Amino acid sequence: MKTIQNYIDGELRNPQGNQWMDNINPSTGKVYGRIPLSDNSDVENAVQAAKRAFPAWSTTPYTERSRCLNVLADLIGKHAADLALAESIDNGKPVSLAAHVDIPRAESNIRFFASAINHYASEAHIMENTHVNYTNRKPIGVVACISPWNLPLYLFTWKIAPALAAGNCVVAKPSEITPQTAYLLSRLCIEAGLPNGVLNIVHGDGPTTGNAIISHPDIKAISFTGGTNTGAHIAREAAPKFKKLSLELGGKNPNIIFADCDYDKMLSTTLRSSFANQGQICLCGSRIFVEESLYEKFKTDFVAKVSKMKVGDPKDPKTKMGAVVSKSHMEKVLSYVQLAKEEGGKVLCGGEQVIPENEEISGGFFISPTVIEGLKFDCRTNQEEIFGPVVTITPFSTEEEAIKMANSVEYGLSATIWTQELSRAHRVANELQTGIAWINCWLVRDLRTPFGGTKSSGVGREGGFEALRFFTEAQNVCIEL
Ligand code: NDP
Repeated sequence: MKTIQNYIDGELRNPQGNQWMDNINPSTGKVYGRIPLSDNSDVENAVQAAKRAFPAWSTTPYTERSRCLNVLADLIGKHAADLALAESIDNGKPVSLAAHVDIPRAESNIRFFASAINHYASEAHIMENTHVNYTNRKPIGVVACISPWNLPLYLFTWKIAPALAAGNCVVAKPSEITPQTAYLLSRLCIEAGLPNGVLNIVHGDGPTTGNAIISHPDIKAISFTGGTNTGAHIAREAAPKFKKLSLELGGKNPNIIFADCDYDKMLSTTLRSSFANQGQICLCGSRIFVEESLYEKFKTDFVAKVSKMKVGDPKDPKTKMGAVVSKSHMEKVLSYVQLAKEEGGKVLCGGEQVIPENEEISGGFFISPTVIEGLKFDCRTNQEEIFGPVVTITPFSTEEEAIKMANSVEYGLSATIWTQELSRAHRVANELQTGIAWINCWLVRDLRTPFGGTKSSGVGREGGFEALRFFTEAQNVCIEL
C-alpha cells in the first residue's frame, strides 16, 4: 500500500484529522494506496506556511527563483521513467503516453516558466515631458492551483510553475483520483531545496479540501482546471471575495473535415484527436463533421482503423489505449452511449466495456473506442461533454452549416479544421467561437501562446506571459518629471 502525504511547510505530513481515502488503480480496479482527506486545519497550516514564506520568496531575485525551478525540472527529467510509470498506474493511461507526453511536458512547463520570468518586463508610458508611468507587476501573495485527473502532473506543473516563477507562494491540490505524481513532485521539491512553505500540496477531495482552499480568505487568486460545474461553483464562492480567477473548463470540440483535406494526414490525426488518452483530453475533437462528398469514404476508413484499436495493460509499452480513470467515469461514458442509442444514433464500433483476458487487469475500467453516427447536432449526446473514447460523425453540406453546428454547443475550447484552401481555413477559424483553432494539425502546443476557452469553457488565458500576468498584480506608478 502506497501512502501519500501532504507537503506542507517543506515537510511531508499526515492529515491532522487522520482521515484517508482509497487510491484505486483503474487498470485493475483495486485499491493500491491511501491518500489524505485533508480538512480545514491542514489547509490552514498550508496557507500559514505559504504566508510565512511569501516575503522572502517574493523578494528573492527572479534569477534565483528561476534557478530553483530549473533544479526541480532537472529532477523531473532524472526521475522521468518512475514518474511515467506512477502516472500510468494512477490514471490508467498507457505508460508510453505518460513517458512521451505527460512527464516531458511537466518538465518543460517548469523549465519554460523558469526561463520566461527572465524575460518578463514591464511597460513604461511616457507623457511628453511631464510625467512617466511605469507598470509595477507584483506577485499577488498566496495563490491556489487546483488541477484535474486527466493530465495530472502535466496540468499541475502548468499552474504552479508560473505562480512560483512570478514570486507567489502556492497552496495546490491535485485531483484525489490521481494524486501520485504530485506527491512524488513534493519529494523532488524537498530534494531540490525549494524553500519551506513556497509550495504546499494538500491532498483530498473537492467538497472538503478543495472547498477549504477556495474559500480561504488569505488566498487571493485561484487557477483552476476542471469541469464546468466545479468552475461555476468556484466562481460563485470566489467572486464576492474578489479573488482573481483563471478557469479552464470543459469542452465539446468540433473537428471539421472538408473534402479537399490532406486525407491521410487528416485520418491519422483524427484517430489521435478522438482517442488519445482514452478521449480524456479537454482538447479532443469529439464531434467530427465531414463534408458530404467525403462522408462515406471517411466513415469506412475511420471505423476500420478504430475497430483495430485494442485496449490493453497500460504498463505494457506497446499499449496505445489504456483504462479510463475510474469506475464512475466508465459508467458515465457508457451511459452516454446508451443515451446516443435512445436519441437515434447508430454505434458503428465499440460502445462497450472491455474485460481483458489478462486476469491481472480483468477488473479494470476499459471501454472500446466508439464511433456513433446518425445523431442530430443539437441532441444531448452532441451537446454535453462525455470526456471519454466516444466520438460522433455527422455530414455537412456547406461551410455555413458546419460552422453553425460547430458553434451550437455551450462550450468553446478548441476546434480543428481540415482543408487545403487557405482562405477558407482562415475564414472558418475566425467564425468559430473557440479559444484555440488548429488548422491541418491538432494539439500542437507552443507554450508561449495564449491558452484557454470561451463560453462555458472558461475565463482567462494561461500560457506564456498571459500566465505571468495572471499571477501578478499590475500597479501603475506615475512620476512627475
Ligand atoms: P472536476 O471539476 O471534478 O475536478 C477538478 C479539480 O477540482 C479536482 O482537483 C477536484 O478535486 C477539484 N474540486 C472538485 N470540487 C471542488 C470544489 N468544490 N472546490 C474546489 N475544488 C474542487 O474535474 P475533473 O477532475 O473531473 O476533470 C475533468 C474536467 O476537466 C473535464 O470537464 C475537462 O474538460 C476539464 N479539463 C479542462 C481543461 C482545460 O484546459 N480547459 C484541461 C483538462 C481538463 P477532486 O477530484 O479531488 O474531487
